[in-house]
Amino acid sequence: MRNLCVIFPDQLNPEISSILNFDKELDEILICEFKKDFTNVNHHKKKIVYQLSCMRHFQSNLIEMGFRVNYVKIDDPNNRGDFYPELQALKREKGFEQLIVTEPSSFDELSSVKRWGELFKVRLDIRKNNLFMCDIQEFKKWSMGRKELRLEYFYRTMRKKFNILMDNEKPIGGAWNFDKSNRKTLKNNSNIPEKYSCSIDDLTLEIIELVNREFKNHFGKTENFEFAVTRKQALNAVEKFMHERLEYFGDYQDAMLSEDPWLYHSHISMYLNNGLINAKECIVLAENEHKVNNAPINSVEGFIRQILGWREYIRGLYWLKMPDYKKLNRLNAEKSLPSFYWDADTKMNCIKESVENTMQNAYAHHIQRLMILGNFALITGIQPEDVNEWFLSVYADAYEWVELPNVTGMALFADGGIIASKPYASTGAYINRMSNYCDHCQYDVKEKTGEDACPFNYFYWNFLERNESKLSTNPRLGLAYKNLGRFPKEKLSAFKNNADNFMKKIGKGEKV
Ligand SMILES: Cc1cc2nc3c(=O)[nH]c(=O)nc-3n(C[C@H](O)[C@H](O)[C@H](O)COP(=O)(O)OP(=O)(O)OC[C@H]3O[C@@H](n4cnc5c(N)ncnc54)[C@H](O)[C@@H]3O)c2cc1C
Ligand code: SF4
Repeated sequence: MRNLCVIFPDQLNPEISSILNFDKELDEILICEFKKDFTNVNHHKKKIVYQLSCMRHFQSNLIEMGFRVNYVKIDDPNNRGDFYPELQALKREKGFEQLIVTEPSSFDELSSVKRWGELFKVRLDIRKNNLFMCDIQEFKKWSMGRKELRLEYFYRTMRKKFNILMDNEKPIGGAWNFDKSNRKTLKNNSNIPEKYSCSIDDLTLEIIELVNREFKNHFGKTENFEFAVTRKQALNAVEKFMHERLEYFGDYQDAMLSEDPWLYHSHISMYLNNGLINAKECIVLAENEHKVNNAPINSVEGFIRQILGWREYIRGLYWLKMPDYKKLNRLNAEKSLPSFYWDADTKMNCIKESVENTMQNAYAHHIQRLMILGNFALITGIQPEDVNEWFLSVYADAYEWVELPNVTGMALFADGGIIASKPYASTGAYINRMSNYCDHCQYDVKEKTGEDACPFNYFYWNFLERNESKLSTNPRLGLAYKNLGRFPKEKLSAFKNNADNFMKKIGKGEKV
């Protein structure tokens, strides 16, 4: 064979750069399912089903298109468990002159791929990942000389570059950002359309059985598997979102609702992140919905900002700051992750429901991740390593490049403010305003201290006090520190005592 093109599990797109210029007579593809990729952390069962099913459907699709594919299944007795022995064996059996890959999404994987040329004594062609809109080098160039790497400026650069929602040099709608219109709350879910749901085929059924057998101790459930597993199905899911939910995406972007884990979000991150669909096609579809007056500017801009802005920015930062970023812990958070993140056994209803949703769906929307699960870990001082491991395990869309900056930077402020201009910390009052979780909680959101007080309240104030030397000069926390200063000393001690008692109870295995 001439070229061996290796396709990684999160590059499942027939237009991926590693197979551009593929010669169907001379070249072959290698795709591998390695157990280590699914056991490096306690990945959600549904995430494993999703990933394996997408990979096997993609293989069939490639074969139908006439590609020659060497496919190593996870349960194949000859599976060698890693790329090095697989490539060695393939070189012995068939020989290849050149290895072609699209740059892998994780820092460690790229570091090991860079050694392949030398190891196998062949030419190595590492190509840019054409599923993203901002190249890693381009982001690096954008970041140079800037004191702060704020999303807003990056996002404007991208809007201009791709001429998205632009009217000549001006943003359509007269503003770059409609965040202020995007904070409505929801009373109930009676008007929210049914989410996309795909029936399972024999291939997926077989994988569900495999996962229930081989990964039975992993987190989460395989029941009611409804994700798309092919590009065609994922595009249907995107279309359904565009026609039925995008209109209200902006309005209810920050809302939370007890009865509904899906709301008006798009639920497409897992399809974007393993390559079934790409960012550009989603952005074009959303922009068209605005052009034909099917969706208002606050929704369309809000959605496009997430994908063209946040997603690309997060990836750029990951590559700019790795490998050091993984070790950051600027607030010196040292506590262990409480077990209720794994079993939902807590009296705090907002956490209980968010973890239950996660167990069931391998999905939680952004505000549950940031303002409930992330917020609690931030204000209680859980160590970034534990929190990152949890977030990497439990969501179908979780890959290190996107999970790590979101957790370390956005949720935990452990990077000292590279991503977020202030910590996303809040009391229960925010959760009560944006959701109905507190209506069914054993704690009282109005109480700041005492047995029945909402833990988010005393942990929040204690968090500010604990981190005063690091955070009080942050201009966006001026008001918070002014309010902290108004509490008498006894109240501050009560916050601390309540926080310590809560942690002691966890240590004793009591339900909190
Ligand atoms: C603590 C924490 C951990 C997170 N971990 C992940 C993760 O592992 N994988 C992941 O894809 N997203 C992660 N996010 C970002 C975001 O929460 C998810 O992308 C989103 O909830 C996915 O649901 P959706 O497709 O319905 O998104 P929507 O709300 O419909 O948004 C549309 C799309 O925008 C993109 N997007 C939005 N926000 C972000 C963001 N902050 N970073 C990157 N892309 C974004 C996603 O591709 C998403 O599909 C995390 C956020 C937080 C606060
Ligand atoms: S009272 Fe506090 S712990 Fe209970 S749901 Fe509300 S915010 Fe969460």
